[in-house]
Amino acid sequence: MFFAEVIVRKSAIASLVYFLAMVLPERKSDPPGVYEKPFKEMYDYIVVGAGSAGSVVATRLSEDYDTSVLLLEAGMSDLEPDDVTQIPSLWGSLIGSEKDWGYHSVQQKYSHFAYENERAYIAQGKVLGGSSSINAQNIVRGSRKNYDQWEHEGAVSWGYDDVLPFFRKLENASDTSYGDSSMIYFYS
Ligand SMILES: Cc1cc2nc3c(=O)[nH]c(=O)nc-3n(C[C@H](O)[C@H](O)[C@H](O)COP(=O)(O)OP(=O)(O)OC[C@H]3O[C@@H](n4cnc5c(N)ncnc54)[C@H](O)[C@@H]3O)c2cc1C
Repeated sequence: MFFAEVIVRKSAIASLVYFLAMVLPERKSDPPGVYEKPFKEMYDYIVVGAGSAGSVVATRLSEDYDTSVLLLEAGMSDLEPDDVTQIPSLWGSLIGSEKDWGYHSVQQKYSHFAYENERAYIAQGKVLGGSSSINAQNIVRGSRKNYDQWEHEGAVSWGYDDVLPFFRKLENASDTSYGDSSMIYFYS
């Protein structure tokens, strides 16, 4: 009896919500004052863009439990079960999709002659994860020689031995046959 009453009440509420959704005008944006305080008073940090960089920055900042972080993303979620971003080999199909900002360069003078109006297409992720959600997932650590050259030219602490621990921290290669390429020199 109690169970049936709950079902009846729930369906009455659902009908009311449905009715209101049909008759009330669609609200385009939240009215001012919907939040108790301005965002900048509610959060210690506001990170704009949940792409490769923004996501890492927000994660690292939020490791401190006393710190509040708001991460804002203009694009959609990447968590739907049928989301193509979950299948790395299909990255190419995401170019030009709703998860791509689909930018174009200005007209080029000396290149892109095969393109319409000599404007390059510039894919950029518009989704949680940003461009890392639509990219090809190739990883190249970079050449020791380049980093050491930059340090030699004045970029203190950007030598290969300085950055190598950070490469190792983010790498997760489970195939040990790749070995550790940290000692390999590439000459161009
Ligand atoms: C098609 C493609 C293939 C690639 N392949 C590779 C590869 O194989 N290997 C590799 O190493 N790199 C690859 N890259 C490059 C790599 O993905 C990018 O260099 C990297 O993801 C850039 O990180 P980011 O944080 O600078 O920007 P993004 O990851 O692009 O993040 C920017 C985020 O900010 C959001 N944003 C923008 N404006 C606003 C706003 N006003 N408010 C809120 N949010 C906003 C965007 O929606 C996006 O989510 C590829 C890139 C593309 C596009």
